[in-house]
Amino acid sequence: MKRSQAAPALLAALAGTALLLSARRGTAPRQQRRRAGCRVVVVGAGFGGLHAALRLAGKPGVDLTVIDAHNHHLFQPLLYQVATAALAPSDIASPLRGTIPADGSTRVLMGSVTGIDTASRHVAWDGGSVPYDELIIATGSTPSYFGHDDWARAAPGLKTLDDALHLRRRILMAFERASRAGSAERGRLLTFVLIGGGPTGVEMAGSIAELAHDLLRHDYDMPDAKARIVLIEAGDRVLPEFAPDLSQNAADALGQLGVDIRTGTRVTGIEEGVVHLHDETLAVETVIWTAGTAATPVADWLGVKPGHGGRVPVGADLSVAGHPEVRIIGDASLAKDAQGKPLPGLAPVAKQQGCYAADAILRRLRRGRAPAPFAYRDYGTLATIGRGRAVAEFGRVHLTGEVAWLLWAVAHIFFLIGFRNRVMVSAQWAFAYATRQRTDRVIIGGPAAWPALSGQPPVAKPG
Ligand SMILES: Cc1cc2nc3c(=O)[nH]c(=O)nc-3n(C[C@H](O)[C@H](O)[C@H](O)COP(=O)(O)OP(=O)(O)OC[C@H]3O[C@@H](n4cnc5c(N)ncnc54)[C@H](O)[C@@H]3O)c2cc1C
Repeated sequence: MKRSQAAPALLAALAGTALLLSARRGTAPRQQRRRAGCRVVVVGAGFGGLHAALRLAGKPGVDLTVIDAHNHHLFQPLLYQVATAALAPSDIASPLRGTIPADGSTRVLMGSVTGIDTASRHVAWDGGSVPYDELIIATGSTPSYFGHDDWARAAPGLKTLDDALHLRRRILMAFERASRAGSAERGRLLTFVLIGGGPTGVEMAGSIAELAHDLLRHDYDMPDAKARIVLIEAGDRVLPEFAPDLSQNAADALGQLGVDIRTGTRVTGIEEGVVHLHDETLAVETVIWTAGTAATPVADWLGVKPGHGGRVPVGADLSVAGHPEVRIIGDASLAKDAQGKPLPGLAPVAKQQGCYAADAILRRLRRGRAPAPFAYRDYGTLATIGRGRAVAEFGRVHLTGEVAWLLWAVAHIFFLIGFRNRVMVSAQWAFAYATRQRTDRVIIGGPAAWPALSGQPPVAKPG
């Protein structure tokens, strides 16, 4: 065959083979294509579960199933930026199908897990039941109202994209309603109360203060209006996880933004439009709960006694007592460091535990030695208060202001999942920094989802 004839022939042969292969792929039932291997199930694809899954996907001898109630991984540390119109939801979420490389031995299921049968080794979810040989549970936590679940409606928390979009709508609608209200009512509408002075409360308070300042200056004709942002903390300082000098710096930065900080203050009741403190009652349009979280009901699923915050106590290898094949990681687990101190509910803890749990399974499959006990590597803690304002603690090194803020921004871009999200968030932040504009201040959901535009406070329900 001449060279000129060989090229098209080769192309045709390759195309034919590709078509044949794709036809076989199309007709073969998905289950039959799955390799027989160790059945590993990962429940929850947040920080812990996703990193475990990424390490296990496609590994020889691993038949991986990932189940999550949502179809996306969510970068929760930037949720408050969606709630305050600085970022779009898709900037901080990555679809799981596509992020976790799926082949014949990996599958992603969207659905809620409702129980675990450790005797028969099955995970019950709303789509049926999945058998496992090795199980990693990483379902995280939910907002906790310390026994006052009735406060949840009037003081929503921030945990999911739905929560962030709900809060964004409430915050933006408060400005719309204020623009058509009388001056007394305007004061109530433009009052925002945050309950809980940890990182989420501090970041959210700073962001609302900046948003209010920018909106009132540029978008609305209310020259005399002023937003009031109140941050309530039961302890004696904000950011109690940080060293006292950094807490003070954060408090000063919030003060410069006009945030009214009430430390040593307890909330005694919350109703729609009203927050009761031990010595005062606040008339308020928007209340945001940033005070505490509790683990998802993993202890109930496993029938074990939960520890502090509903978290399940785990051993040094992150497994549950009596079940070396069941590991719990992240916010749902109560793991301790070498000094016996509980590890904090932070993204890096969950991420490192996810990698550790996956490696432990791979070692067992290769009949390698059991891993050394899990040890958390703390690379430092950061929190931002607003544009050019942040605090950073790296052991004895404490940073504040622009330097800490730049570090915070770089670290968050680096840890975001997906190249597209890193590019989008960098671009959004650069644009916002240069123009002081938040591009995502759109109110969505339709009139049925909006608080009434009348400017009147909601009517309290009898009883
Ligand atoms: C607003 C906010 C801000 C934060 N800021 C920071 C920060 O700045 N720095 C930091 O280090 N940490 C921060 N955190 C904490 C950090 O996000 C958590 O510690 C981390 O997400 C825990 O990871 P995880 O894998 O345990 O759980 P998550 O990341 O919460 O993931 C849990 C996953 O499980 C899924 N799931 C839950 N229940 C079920 C079920 N029944 N069936 C199936 N799937 C289920 C969920 O859909 C979710 O995808 C913040 C948290 C919040 C909420």
